[in-house]
Amino acid sequence: MTSPDTYAGARIARMEIIPLQMPMKTPVKISHGAARPCIDTLLVRLTTESGLTGVGETQAWRRQGSAETLASLAAVLRDHFQPLVVGRSPFSLASIMARLEQAMWHSLYAQAAVSDALYDLQGKILGVPVHALLGGRCRASVPACVVLFMKPTVEQTVEGAAEFQARGYRSFTVKVGVDARQDVRLVAALRERLGPDAILRVDANAGMDFDGALSLLRKLEPYDIDAAEQLLPLGDVAGMAELARRSPIPLMVDESLASDGDLIDIVCRRAGTAIHTKIGKNGGIWGVRKLMTIAGAAGLRIYPGNHPSTSVATLAAAHVATAWDGPLLDGAFTVGIDALADDVVREPVRIEGNAVEVSDAPGLGVELDEDKLRAYRADL
Ligand SMILES: [Mg+2]
Repeated sequence: MTSPDTYAGARIARMEIIPLQMPMKTPVKISHGAARPCIDTLLVRLTTESGLTGVGETQAWRRQGSAETLASLAAVLRDHFQPLVVGRSPFSLASIMARLEQAMWHSLYAQAAVSDALYDLQGKILGVPVHALLGGRCRASVPACVVLFMKPTVEQTVEGAAEFQARGYRSFTVKVGVDARQDVRLVAALRERLGPDAILRVDANAGMDFDGALSLLRKLEPYDIDAAEQLLPLGDVAGMAELARRSPIPLMVDESLASDGDLIDIVCRRAGTAIHTKIGKNGGIWGVRKLMTIAGAAGLRIYPGNHPSTSVATLAAAHVATAWDGPLLDGAFTVGIDALADDVVREPVRIEGNAVEVSDAPGLGVELDEDKLRAYRADL
């Protein structure tokens, strides 16, 4: 008898929602809000009638661009998405994703976990890696950058960066936006310590006003900054366009970019020349691929990133990047592998030097660790 899990025959029988609270190695601090000891992350696991599973991940980030909590994500997934997913074929991905958007407008964080669970499941059924579903391997491995979160002293940040550089990293994004004088001291110290070949970027996580941002950019000009990421609040795309015209440093857009419509607005207004994509923020592999296609066509640089994530969303980003046949910046997609104290898969992502090589195993190539899921499960 043929397995029901074929291209034509597979049906999704069950959708599980697994909210998790993952501890960080050390609390993570950006321009907005207090330092965080944990990240709220959430897995969706889809199971077919014959028992094959696919998994996708998203986050409740709760900073500019994300008003989700684990409980609100779980409610959207359970009450609004589950009836549109269960009973469908995993190969009806485009149709399912369109219905999710119709059911709950702009629910990109919730959609991300479904998108990537569908891709994982397709790969498992066909016996091919997700990058093959996206057009095939275009690079052997995907280089990552280091994210330098805010530390109490310049020295601590510089020492941390130097350790990463010794491991093979060449690209560094440092969090700024609280104290401009400290930011300039920090960037000067990083340039001095890491040398002229290190690629340095700054990220204010939407924490600055226009005057402060322009002043900081001018002071940072001598330090050869490759891009300054999202200095202004999410809604101030007009301000970002004006800043881009007056800045001596190229601007990257992150929090202001959720949907493909956002990106078209950014392109039309010339509000930046590089974009930061994230699996959760941008609706999973399905959404990120669209953004990369538009950005590539518009001549923008692409920085494949992520919120701090387990190996599941890290690999989702790595598969998209592996199948992208255009230039990519060393992106922050492994930030969770560096920052989280633990993982929820049997074989966590390994970073060799500064790069991740995705395997040719079916789907995303991950197997969940049930003990870890129990240990980190969040109470809703
Ligand atoms: Mg950012």
